[in-house]
Amino acid sequence: MEQEIMSTCIVCGQPKEQGIHIVNEFICLDCETEMVQTKVEDEKYPFFVHRLRQIAVRYHV
Ligand SMILES: [Zn+2]
Repeated sequence: MEQEIMSTCIVCGQPKEQGIHIVNEFICLDCETEMVQTKVEDEKYPFFVHRLRQIAVRYHV
C-alpha cells in the first residue's frame, strides 16, 4: 500500500506530495525549483522573499 502524505505548500497553497519542509512549513518541489530559478530582478522574487520572511519571523530563524 502506498501512503500519500500531502502537505500544503505555503507559496502556491496547493497540497503537494513532494517538496521540502522548512521548520514546520512546507514548500513544494515546483515552487522550490521556481524559487531557485527566480532572479532578483524578476517580479516574482519579492513575493517569494515575502513568503520566506513570514517563516523567518514566525520561527525566528
Ligand atoms: Zn508550491
